[in-house]
Amino acid sequence: MTVISLFSCGLTELKKVLADAGMPSFRAGQVHDWIFKKFVFSFDEMTNISVADRAKLKEAFPKILPPVHKFLKDSDGTCKVVLKLSDNNLIEAVAIPDEDSMTFCLSTQVGCPVGCVFCRTGESGFTRNLTAEEIMLQVMVLVKRTDTKPTNIVFMGMGEPFYNRRALFDAIDMLTDPQGLALATRRITISTAGVIEGILELKDRPGEVNLAVSLHVADDGGRNALVPINKRYPLTRLKDAILTYCTQTSRRVTLEVVLLHNINDQHNDALNLLNFCEGLIVHVNIVRFNHFPGTKYQPSSATDEKEFRRVLKKAGIAVTVRKSRGQGILAACGQLAGKENV
Ligand code: SF4
Repeated sequence: MTVISLFSCGLTELKKVLADAGMPSFRAGQVHDWIFKKFVFSFDEMTNISVADRAKLKEAFPKILPPVHKFLKDSDGTCKVVLKLSDNNLIEAVAIPDEDSMTFCLSTQVGCPVGCVFCRTGESGFTRNLTAEEIMLQVMVLVKRTDTKPTNIVFMGMGEPFYNRRALFDAIDMLTDPQGLALATRRITISTAGVIEGILELKDRPGEVNLAVSLHVADDGGRNALVPINKRYPLTRLKDAILTYCTQTSRRVTLEVVLLHNINDQHNDALNLLNFCEGLIVHVNIVRFNHFPGTKYQPSSATDEKEFRRVLKKAGIAVTVRKSRGQGILAACGQLAGKENV
């Protein structure tokens, strides 16, 4: 039997693979249920499958999940896994438990080509795109390690999701497959640094996947310096794409702003942001900067952050502040790196 991954084939393909190996067609449904409904990742524990067929399955799928290079748990309950891929690249994924939710933050690339100056992933450069299967593996490893199914998925880990659209959308199809994890599309959020083609493609896809844009600063000079992708997708074009998205989908977009001390947290920065928001259906999510080794940036002071929020709120913009989770294990926003020294 050819060696393939369980996550690279859906139920239909699995039926074919198992039939080719001489197994009855209902085996595929049983295996699929064990993996995606019962989260059992060892064929030996799939007790309704004959011993002979378990042996064939082990031959076909020698490893269901990749080795976990590191598993870290913060005092706030946040967990981070570092996975070693078949080519020895390391990627990170994070599970963030809350009172009544479990959010998985997933990576879409090894490293990131965007190079936001305040992000640890951006510092490490870009190696390659992940496959849809490698994205799914992060989910299944986190389920196994936390013993909890996700209620929400956010593509905010390593990488720019819209630079890997095929794998991203394939993974979303797998996550929302009614025969699999059956997550609702509205429970999924894609965060982009502003890749316009991705925003426009998302608006035409079925479902209600949420869009977040990491804006950070709303003047081209300032954004060119913080988010270099702005030179390719300047603010006027980005705003046009968001407006098209809002108009066509009637969905609200989240604008994310990591507030950096004396860089983008002043009164004028808030006014520029207000100007950008005009005419859009948006909500601003302020993200506290999470320090990491070697960075020169500092988080905004509590006073500046409060004033920034006040200006936006006074103008009628909905503003939230994202809780920072997993700082103790370098698992918070902007801290993932996929390095040995996590
Ligand atoms: S913030 Fe996101 S887009 Fe920017 S470098 Fe980091 S991972 Fe890439």
